[in-house]
Amino acid sequence: MPDTGTPIVVDAAIAESAGLVPGASVSALQRGRGGAMDVDAVADAVAAAPPSAVVLARPPWADPPAAALAGVAMLLDREVVWLPPALAQAAWAVALIANWAAYSQPRDLVRRAQVAVGLAALPACRLPRRPWGCERVQMPALRPMALARWCDRLWLPCAHCVVGGGAPGGACGRCGHEQVTA
Ligand SMILES: [Zn+2]
Repeated sequence: MPDTGTPIVVDAAIAESAGLVPGASVSALQRGRGGAMDVDAVADAVAAAPPSAVVLARPPWADPPAAALAGVAMLLDREVVWLPPALAQAAWAVALIANWAAYSQPRDLVRRAQVAVGLAALPACRLPRRPWGCERVQMPALRPMALARWCDRLWLPCAHCVVGGGAPGGACGRCGHEQVTA
């Protein structure tokens, strides 16, 4: 395993909102005409990514034209982390996950991402918040390194699937079950 981190695969629109530049460690999938992802293009891109790559996708019900990404990734046995449904929150999570991906091994990255997604979606979260991105959404106001440590401490396994888990009280980042509890 290289110590250069974990590659990620994400919708180009979310990557752009997150301020990411596609490259060797960030594979950004463009949409075809009509705004939908082409299944063949998705399959080629996911197959070309390293086996350790983590696929970041919004739930299909939140973004139906991009549903091929998560579906194909699962069929190709890639790790998928469900992003928050709203684009602005998804972009915040992707920016953070991409930061961690530069120095995190896949298993650590997946767990941190599962917690971060839960924190993003939890309205009652008691973390201090600050406006983030063009839409000025209120997101946790912690630096990525500090938030990574929080995520490592907070992660709980999901009782409804094998490798899933997330933030206490948040949705499972693997199967989407609504409440991960201790
Ligand atoms: Zn689960």
